[in-house]
Amino acid sequence: MINETRLVETFLDLVRIDSPSGEEAAIAEELKDRLGQLGLTVERDEMNNIVARLPGQGEALILAAHMDTVMPGHGVKPVVKDGVVYSDGSTILGADDKSGVAVILEVLQTIVECELPHPPLEVVITVQEETGLAGAKALDKSRLQAKMGISFDAGELPGTIVVSAPSHNFVSAVVHGKAVHAGTQPERGVNALLVAAQALVDMPLGRIDEETTANFGRIKGGRARNIVPDRVELLGEARSRRLDKLEAQTAKMIEALEDAAQRHGATVDVEVTRAYDGYTLAEEAVVVRRLATACRASGVEPSLVPSGGGSDANIFNAHGMQVVNLSTGMSGVHSTEEHIAIADMVACAEIALHFMEDLSS
Ligand SMILES: [Zn+2]
Repeated sequence: MINETRLVETFLDLVRIDSPSGEEAAIAEELKDRLGQLGLTVERDEMNNIVARLPGQGEALILAAHMDTVMPGHGVKPVVKDGVVYSDGSTILGADDKSGVAVILEVLQTIVECELPHPPLEVVITVQEETGLAGAKALDKSRLQAKMGISFDAGELPGTIVVSAPSHNFVSAVVHGKAVHAGTQPERGVNALLVAAQALVDMPLGRIDEETTANFGRIKGGRARNIVPDRVELLGEARSRRLDKLEAQTAKMIEALEDAAQRHGATVDVEVTRAYDGYTLAEEAVVVRRLATACRASGVEPSLVPSGGGSDANIFNAHGMQVVNLSTGMSGVHSTEEHIAIADMVACAEIALHFMEDLSS
């Protein structure tokens, strides 16, 4: 029932509209118009998050995606070749997550045109997902009725359902040493850069285990070549799908920083903030079970997988909703090699249709 040509056209239209995080006004306007034309009631908050509603029968359902993209995302020129959409190689494509938005629009259009039975729908299209889920965090979730939903913001084969994602800590540190002239009195200084380096060498980083990762990704400090540096800032993170493991890993990072500081006569301030909470949905959770059924009804074998990254689904789940992430087929995201197979987008839309058919029957 999905109109492939129309779906592809919608997708190509959307990727041609610039929408790096924080610059969503134009695409929000376009989406508001499109959803309004389909007969939905559309609300837009001051951040440009969109919530659109379509009344229906049965248990309410959220259909979610995000409208922002990473960089380089200005002037995307999509290229279609052998059933796959690419960028021209100078930008990302923006299938993350305009494939999700296009799938939602196509599913809505099909439902409306063919007058298909469907549950009450709450379409949530957020901004600034790529910059720490800021749009979903700011969204007034108390206005959403649905207790379950599908977020169309994942990759891999069609039928891939992300049922688990990690909790995420930001770990920020400032090492304070003592600045002196490096040539005349180095013995009187305390090298903050050296302390930072020692701490990084001492702590476990990278892949910790199957469900835990850690990284320091940015370091800033020092004044000049000939000055012993007195201040170094480090930005790091830890993630785990198990909270106890996240806490243990975070503690090791703090400990390594404090130990190194102490050994070298420096001090360190460490700040840990929870970027977002993780979630794990059981195979028996209603939304998981029904989505798996919908996959099979579409001739696709469902695959339940954990993720190493967070998404808006983390925010919804933290608010007591059961929201899974379904693959749209996006691939090579956050790079200029990003691409998506048209057949995968179509399969994703068909799964969503089957899901709704089941939910409203
Ligand atoms: Zn995304």
